Amino acid sequence: MRKSARVVVIGGGIAGCSTLYHLTEEGWTDVMLIERDELTSGTTWHSAAQVTNFGMNQTMVGLKSHSIALYKKLSEDMDYPINYHYADGGIRLANSEEVMEGYRHFASMAKGMGVNFEVIDAEECKRRHPLISTDQLLGGLWDPLDGDIDPAQLCQALVRVARKNGAEVIRHNPVIALTQHKDHSWTVHSENGDIDAEIIVNAGGYRVNEIGAMMGVCHPVISMEHQYFLTEPIDQIIQAGHRMPLIRCPISDFYCRQEKQGLLIGFYEQDCRTWGMNGIDPNFTNALCPDDPDRVIDVLEGAFMRMPAIADTGIHTIINGPITYSYDGAPLVGPIPGKRNAFCIIGLRAGLGEGGGHGWLLAQQIVHGEACYDTWPLDPRRFGDYATVEATALKSIEEYQNEFRFHFPHEHRPAARFARTTPLTSILEKEGAVFAPVDGWERIDFVKPAPDFTETHSYRFNESFSVIGDEVKAIASGVGLTEVNGFCRYEITGQDVHDWLDQLSCTRIKNHPGRVRLAYFLNHHGNVKSEATIATLADGRVWYGAAAAADRHDWDWLTQHLPTDREITIKRLTDDWCILVLAGPQARDVLMAVSRDDWSDDAFPWLSIRQTHIGIAEAIVMRVSYSGELAYELHIPMPQLMAAYQALTKAGTTFGMCLFGMRAVESMRLEKGYLHWKSDLITEFNPFETGLHRFVHDKPAFVGKEALMAMQKKGLRKTLVCLDIHATDAPSHGGASVWHEGDVVGTVTSASYGYRVRKNLAYAFIKPEYANHGTEVYVDVLGVSQKAVIVPMGQI
Ligand SMILES: Cc1cc2nc3c(=O)[nH]c(=O)nc-3n(C[C@H](O)[C@H](O)[C@H](O)COP(=O)(O)OP(=O)(O)OC[C@H]3O[C@@H](n4cnc5c(N)ncnc54)[C@H](O)[C@@H]3O)c2cc1C
Repeated sequence: MRKSARVVVIGGGIAGCSTLYHLTEEGWTDVMLIERDELTSGTTWHSAAQVTNFGMNQTMVGLKSHSIALYKKLSEDMDYPINYHYADGGIRLANSEEVMEGYRHFASMAKGMGVNFEVIDAEECKRRHPLISTDQLLGGLWDPLDGDIDPAQLCQALVRVARKNGAEVIRHNPVIALTQHKDHSWTVHSENGDIDAEIIVNAGGYRVNEIGAMMGVCHPVISMEHQYFLTEPIDQIIQAGHRMPLIRCPISDFYCRQEKQGLLIGFYEQDCRTWGMNGIDPNFTNALCPDDPDRVIDVLEGAFMRMPAIADTGIHTIINGPITYSYDGAPLVGPIPGKRNAFCIIGLRAGLGEGGGHGWLLAQQIVHGEACYDTWPLDPRRFGDYATVEATALKSIEEYQNEFRFHFPHEHRPAARFARTTPLTSILEKEGAVFAPVDGWERIDFVKPAPDFTETHSYRFNESFSVIGDEVKAIASGVGLTEVNGFCRYEITGQDVHDWLDQLSCTRIKNHPGRVRLAYFLNHHGNVKSEATIATLADGRVWYGAAAAADRHDWDWLTQHLPTDREITIKRLTDDWCILVLAGPQARDVLMAVSRDDWSDDAFPWLSIRQTHIGIAEAIVMRVSYSGELAYELHIPMPQLMAAYQALTKAGTTFGMCLFGMRAVESMRLEKGYLHWKSDLITEFNPFETGLHRFVHDKPAFVGKEALMAMQKKGLRKTLVCLDIHATDAPSHGGASVWHEGDVVGTVTSASYGYRVRKNLAYAFIKPEYANHGTEVYVDVLGVSQKAVIVPMGQI
């Protein structure tokens, strides 16, 4: 066994084997994998191992396509064959028009990744899968490349190639402790001895938190028990003479695929069980949980109804094994928050289908610092401390119970809510606020017009369309108030703070006490990494503000770039302060009623910041606007938030001030040309492609400059544009494909109706040759090709 390696991967399931393989493919061959038992002895060996292309966003579709292409390539090696049933095809069923519309959107989204899904009716489902009943069935989504693979053979194949490339694999060697050194390198203590490593990867499957504990981390991942049955041979399958496609059924929460001449049927029962919450027996290896067929009776009946042949067939084997779930159901693949040189590939609930792609994206992140797709949907830093073990268990149960039921736009499920609240949360709820969680904080989405108001989950405009329109109208004609809790905020101090930020950002950051500016940060590849407001409170004292979700992401980036030769201190204030936003032409009048300062344009122009009081509360006020209206951000210490709110609501009565939510803000910011982090601002594009020319300044150096200049010479790959879509009953949605004369030329990033401009708006990255104002393109909105025109961004 080597005594040192550049990377040590801990765990030899599909996650670890794929990571090892891809590290060597990226050219890093001084790498090791340590497995406590045999390879695949965790969950991987007993997986149903279905391999689908379906994903909820383009990153997921792209990485699954990679898995499929890789598995096909490996399976074609005649010397080491793998049982891979490639392209049997698969159908996701639907019994409601709303779900069919969701499928139409996913088909549009996948098209942009070169993946051809088909939305088919019930009769066509039956034609492709003769065993199903069309009773109460509307149709389904067809994935032509769906299939299944032998998981052990796949892992052996990955490891064989990795070894050939120079990697070392040590089996029967549990990792028992981890030590990190001052230079951020690690010593991995294993039963067979110590290994020094520059970088470590947690790929521990259901033992994720045993390895996490060795480095002082509790990952928001737990395990659930999950069962499938293997049936005796079925005559109709034998007679069909072809392999059956896979079925995934959100109506009755089961899936099934052909196994030999019978079926493998798996269940997502409502009466589900977490597993290993109080620790895992060290001897649980190559092991299963006890069979528990009674638990799945509820879903079994639905499966019988959909596939009557099952009811007459014997079950010969039951498999019940632990499967990991994360807080939001998606895996955690990337850097471990707050740690250096430590990565994870954990929480894989569909690790066979996805593992090839996850290992690929993780290896790219380790070797290049960034992957070919924006990996935020997988980034471990998307969760904070609010994602406790208890909250993760509740969210995992909810995810498991809804395994095949996708989230509709604006659908926020009830488990583990109210994890982070402010003194105003219950007051706003009484005022009718409907909340949407943002990084665990409950934020106003919109305000109900009546206590019994509900909205239908749909991809179309629904009951809330006019409610949000009324909020926008009230703001635009008077004044509105909202709470923006959880806004990421750091206080950065030090004499050289401006110089340091200036070297990090492509935007010029000068020392102007009392001024605020918007700045962009690039990664080392010259693409957009972060957006922040930099507010200078005094010489050497800056507030850095960014999207709530960016808190741990930006913290890692800034702290990793702290200078060693100058003293710069960063303090997190996110939980200590809260923002109230006043917006609308009468915002100044309300402000003047609660504060003695001079708020005139001359005394407090656009992009000013000042310390003041709102009523009796201390406050830092910034004159910035995300809505395009006159607006003030009132930053209030959390304990004084109620005092400020009371003063504002009392003063606001005179002006008919309304409460508003984030959906109204979303509409207004799209009209105004403001961008959203991780919708429009992604690591796949540079600031020129994102339309941020005016924020890239001619400076001798900044992070990403060289790469950006090199890219600039090559020309734009895509351009972010604004589209006016001629559809009246549905907005577009992120991921939808943009077409021109039969070709996909772009992808929608974000969309909303613009109530002030009365246009159905969307932003999209499209090929530069179609980006001129007035160019006509088509957007696939729920399966219908809708005409759209490129319009100037932010014209209101
Ligand atoms: C019944 C069932 C059916 C499934 N069906 C499908 C499906 O159809 N399609 C699909 O895509 N997915 C499916 N899955 C999920 C899929 O099997 C998992 O997502 C995947 O196997 C997880 O792989 P992993 O590498 O993350 O974890 P594991 O396979 O558990 O691997 C982790 C490895 O880490 C090792 N390890 C742990 N601690 C240490 C330590 N301290 N030192 C050294 N090594 C350590 C373990 O021994 C283990 O080998 C199914 C799961 C179940 C339970």
